[in-house]
Amino acid sequence: MRPEILFPLFAPARTLPGIGPRLEKLVARLVGTSAEPKAIDLCWHLPSGLIDRRKRPAIAEARDGEIVTMEVVVGHHVVPRSSRLPYRIHVHDATGEMQLVFFRAKADYLTRILPEGSTRLISGRIEFYQGEPQMTHPDHVLEPGAVHELPLIEPVYPLTAGLPLKSLQKAIKAAVSRAPKLTEWQDPAWAKSQRFPTWHEALTQAHNPGTNEDLLGTAPARARLAYDELLANQLALGLVRLRMRHLPGRIVRGDGHLRQKVLAELPYKLTGAQQRALREIDADAMSDRRMLRLLQGDVGSGKTIVALLAMLNAVEAGFQAGLMVPTEILARQHAASLSPLCEAAGVRLALLTGRDKGAKRAEILTAVASGKIDILVGTHALFQDDVAFDKLALVVVDEQHRFGVHQRLALSAKGGVGTDVLVMTATPIPRTLTLTAYGDMDVSKLDEKPPGRKPIDTRALPVERLHEVVDAMQRALKSGAQIYWVCPLVEESDELDVTAAEERFNHLKQLFGDQVGLVHGRMKPTEKDRVMSAFESGDIRVLVATTVIEVGVNVPSATIMVIEHAERFGLAQLHQLRGRVGRGGDKSTCLLLYQTPLGETAQARIRIMRETEDGFLIAEEDLRLRGAGELLGIRQSGLPTFRLAQIDTQGNLLKAAYDDARLILGRDPELETPRGQALRTLLYLFERDEAIRYLRSG
Ligand code: ADP
Ligand code: MG
Repeated sequence: MRPEILFPLFAPARTLPGIGPRLEKLVARLVGTSAEPKAIDLCWHLPSGLIDRRKRPAIAEARDGEIVTMEVVVGHHVVPRSSRLPYRIHVHDATGEMQLVFFRAKADYLTRILPEGSTRLISGRIEFYQGEPQMTHPDHVLEPGAVHELPLIEPVYPLTAGLPLKSLQKAIKAAVSRAPKLTEWQDPAWAKSQRFPTWHEALTQAHNPGTNEDLLGTAPARARLAYDELLANQLALGLVRLRMRHLPGRIVRGDGHLRQKVLAELPYKLTGAQQRALREIDADAMSDRRMLRLLQGDVGSGKTIVALLAMLNAVEAGFQAGLMVPTEILARQHAASLSPLCEAAGVRLALLTGRDKGAKRAEILTAVASGKIDILVGTHALFQDDVAFDKLALVVVDEQHRFGVHQRLALSAKGGVGTDVLVMTATPIPRTLTLTAYGDMDVSKLDEKPPGRKPIDTRALPVERLHEVVDAMQRALKSGAQIYWVCPLVEESDELDVTAAEERFNHLKQLFGDQVGLVHGRMKPTEKDRVMSAFESGDIRVLVATTVIEVGVNVPSATIMVIEHAERFGLAQLHQLRGRVGRGGDKSTCLLLYQTPLGETAQARIRIMRETEDGFLIAEEDLRLRGAGELLGIRQSGLPTFRLAQIDTQGNLLKAAYDDARLILGRDPELETPRGQALRTLLYLFERDEAIRYLRSG
């Protein structure tokens, strides 16, 4: 249960002054929650700039564009004849004269706050109009005695359309004032060495920057808040890990007879990296601890066979294994490519997807429950409640970046006692980010590609040269090539994606006839399958697609990848897409078609794509170019998003948080000491409530 001391921060934002139903919606959009925004969400919304009102020039000294505060005497009001004209008020001081300008202003209001003959403090931006200084809509108008009420430095916040800065400032100020003083959870020596203020001071300071330096991630207040967040994240992962470790594992030791049969069927030898990864996986399986391992390998590095061999170890030992993948296309493809190998070894493999219903589904479930199936391949359907295994020992999750940490947890719970979990990802994740998402896992890496791969010839062309691409396609098709054509990603709308893909499909069909196929996310699964298998068998030679093909699809005979509007894709995505070709022995080409003019970032992305095929290098560059928030399109990536921490610039803090969390949990695994109690509050503060449930007295 969340501690009472935090209740005011977790109250709805609409309990803050000035936040009614309309602004509540805007605040929700601003802080990126779909649920109702809370006061704490506003506390985490840090300023992006500041307005400095400390300049106090006399009128004669005022310069164009400056934000100033001045003391003036109010003179004549010039009431406009038409409401479309501005209302003007003459003001002066000992050095000169200027005008205050108001549009659509109420005269009675202005005569009340700026009565003729009075002295007033005004603050706002000076503009020169026809050589004369003026100020349009001063931000503040005060009586001289109220000078202390004027915020000399005002925080400026990122806004969203329709949300006035003043309302937001007011609400945030109120939210921050609700922050209680909390018992320190940071290690005192560490906090001191980093010049961290207390949490309460840090929050207050972060919202009241005095200089531009205070806005940087390196400012102590900001660094402190970021570190708090990172530590909460690492602690939560650490608690999950501890719990998994403490659940009894079991020793799964096969005798290798099935593996030998499968290896004998393969037309290739395992790479050194594959062998190394397999040894690491085996060591986990054969220990009495639970396996919780991440297998990282770039596209095409050969993870699937490693997964199969790992699963065979379980089958040899008399257990079952499950392989879960994010899409139906992939599930089918895996089942199709693994079946012949399994058959040769006498291993019973079945496929279960959301599409299997009624009698068919019941039949599979019975076979799984009675142990007649050794390996079950499927989508999420694999882990629905009615799926019961007889003796599940290993779960492999492919292309994990489409699943979140929560799903990973649900999954390992599914297996009950001792189920090992192997997660595979083709998305090269920069080292720093691996910690944030997989700090709870051991990592194996496939850092070597199967031999004989030819480099992919990557080129970039402006879309105006589309006809050249079409000509080249014509020639390539004559010599038997197969081509992927990926259509633009339209932000926020798969409907538009589909329209664009359909248009391109019709265009190419006119040119190349029935050998052109279309696949997109809105098609019925059976229809998708039909198209995909036609492409695999070569009946379709040009496959127009939206990004549904991004993940895992394997058609080795396809050698040309055209990506339209390449400038709209992120680096990691481009890399994933390009990875669909270059899988067979033939030389492959990737054409990046872009719309001019190219922005700086898009230019850099395309340059990097042309320079390297190393997914890890590309991931690091992606992080550098975009910042962690946007990397991989966080929404679909399964990576945690941070409210405060900026992984690209505060990565050093992440490593420290990782070490810190390990140290803390090593000494106080149940968070029972006084510091442990304070750390529980930290977990609640960052809404890592579910991690607390893993504590004995949670
Ligand atoms: P990914 O890691 O992207 O899932 P896959 O497992 O789909 O990669 O493997 C890509 C291709 O490489 C497959 O066609 C597979 O048969 C082949 N492959 C895997 N391991 C080797 C190897 N050691 N030598 C040669 N080819 C291999
Ligand atoms: Mg794969």
